[in-house]
Amino acid sequence: MNLVNPVNLVSRDRAHLWHPYTQMLTRPDPIPIVRGEGVYLYTEEGRRLLDGTSSWWVNIHGHSHPRLNEALAAQARVLEHVVFANCTHAPAIDLAERLLGVAPAGLTRVFYSDNGSTAVEVALKLALQYWVNRGQPSRRRFIALHHAYHGDTVGAMSASEDSVFTRPFTPMLFNVVRANAPYCYRCPVGLERASCQIECLGAASPSDPSTLASQLERHGDSVAAVVVEPMLQGAGGMIVWPEEFLAGTRRLCDRFDTLLIADEVLTGFGRTGRMFACEHAEVAPDIMCLSKALTAGYMPLGATLTTEAVYDAFLSEDRTRTFFHGHSFTANPLACAVAVASLDLFHETNRLGSVRSLERWLRDGLDALRSLPMVGDVRIIGGVGIIELVTDRTTKSAGGYLDQMGPRLTAAFLARGLLLRPLGNVLYFMPPYVITESETAWVIDQIKGVLQDPAMFP
Ligand SMILES: *Cc1c(COP(=O)(O)O)cnc(C)c1O
Repeated sequence: MNLVNPVNLVSRDRAHLWHPYTQMLTRPDPIPIVRGEGVYLYTEEGRRLLDGTSSWWVNIHGHSHPRLNEALAAQARVLEHVVFANCTHAPAIDLAERLLGVAPAGLTRVFYSDNGSTAVEVALKLALQYWVNRGQPSRRRFIALHHAYHGDTVGAMSASEDSVFTRPFTPMLFNVVRANAPYCYRCPVGLERASCQIECLGAASPSDPSTLASQLERHGDSVAAVVVEPMLQGAGGMIVWPEEFLAGTRRLCDRFDTLLIADEVLTGFGRTGRMFACEHAEVAPDIMCLSKALTAGYMPLGATLTTEAVYDAFLSEDRTRTFFHGHSFTANPLACAVAVASLDLFHETNRLGSVRSLERWLRDGLDALRSLPMVGDVRIIGGVGIIELVTDRTTKSAGGYLDQMGPRLTAAFLARGLLLRPLGNVLYFMPPYVITESETAWVIDQIKGVLQDPAMFP
C-alpha cells in the first residue's frame, strides 16, 4: 500500500487545483479518496464513506466493479482510441446496437460525444440543422422549462433555467422560450395537488401565457424543438413530475409539428425505476441525450440518439447538409466497451429490480420524515429520495441553491460517514443501485438523526 501523507495531499491540492461548483475561498478541505468498492469510498486516513450521490449521479453498479474493470482493461490491451470520422470499431457498433435495443421505439441512430453537456449541444444543433436542411430555417427557437438544467456549455446553459449558475454568462447565451415545469410542491398555477389537471401544461385551455401549450400556440411555427428532462428535473431542484405532463408534452409537440428532445443524461439507465424515464409515459422522443450512467460512471461519454426522419434530413449530395460536429474523443473505444459491459450487468443481475426495491425502501423510510417541521416536501422516484427543506411550512420559504443549509448539512453527514451534497435546501439521496436494504436503512437513520439534531435545527 502506498501511504501518502493526507495533509500533504490536501495542501498540494490547495496549491494548484480549482474544483467545480466550489467557492475556493470558503470551501472545507477536499476529501482525499484513495479507493472505491461497491457503495463505499475510502479516504486516505482510512475512513469509509457511503457514496450517497453516486459520485455526481454517474455510478450505478458500485465502485471498482470487477466486470467493468476487466472490460476496460481488455479494451485497453487491443485499442485505446482511433479517429471516428472515417474509422469505426466494434465497441462503438456493439454499444449503438445495444442502446437502440433498449431505447424507446423509433430511435435508430446514435451520435457519440464526450459528456452530458455535449450530448445536449449535439441535440440542439441537430434539431436546428434538421429544419435548415428541410427548408424551414425559420424554425429556430427552443422551448425549455423552468427549473431546467441541461449542462454547462453555452447551448446547454442557454436551455437551462436562468439562475445563479448561468447569470454571469447571460451575454453569451441565446434566448429560449420558457414554459412551466410541473413543480407540484410549488404549483406554477396555484393548484392543490389533489385537484391537479396538469393545467400547468395548458393543453386543455391555453390561457395562461407561461404554459407549454400557450408558448407553442404563440411561437409554434418558429419552434425547432422542445427540450425537457423527463420525469425528474435534476440540478434545478430534484423536481418529480406527474407522468401525464410528459405524455401531454409529446402530444403538444406532435400537434405543433416540432421535435421533442428528452435530456435523459440523469434519468437514463434505470435511475427513475425504468430503463429510460420516457417509458413512464410510454413516450418516444425525437432526440434523446445520454451520458452519466451510460458508462456506469467509469468514463466520460455522451450519446445523442435520434430517429431515421432526423437522420434522413442530413443525407444529401449537397455536402453543406453534413452534420459538422465532432470531438477528438468521439466514440472512445474504452468508454464504449465499459458501457457495453454495464448493459450486460443490467441483464445478468436484474438491476432494474434493484432500483424498484430501493424505491420501496426509500418510500417506507422517508415518508415518516414528512411530519418534521423543516420538511416541506418528500419526493421519491426510482432510486432517488428527495427532501425539500423549508424555514416555514406555511409560506414554504427556503433559501434556494445558495442556502447555507447545504454546506452545513454536507458537513454533518460527512461526520457520520455519509457523502451527500444537497442542492442548497434540497437534500437528496441517490446511491449506486447495488446498495442493500440495511445500508439504505442506515442512511435514512443518518438523515433522521441530522434533521432531528437541535444543533442543526434549533
Ligand atoms: C449532469 C447533466 C447534464 C450535463 O452533463 P455533464 O456530463 O455534467 O456535462 C445535462 N443534463 C442533465 C439532465 C444533467 O443532469
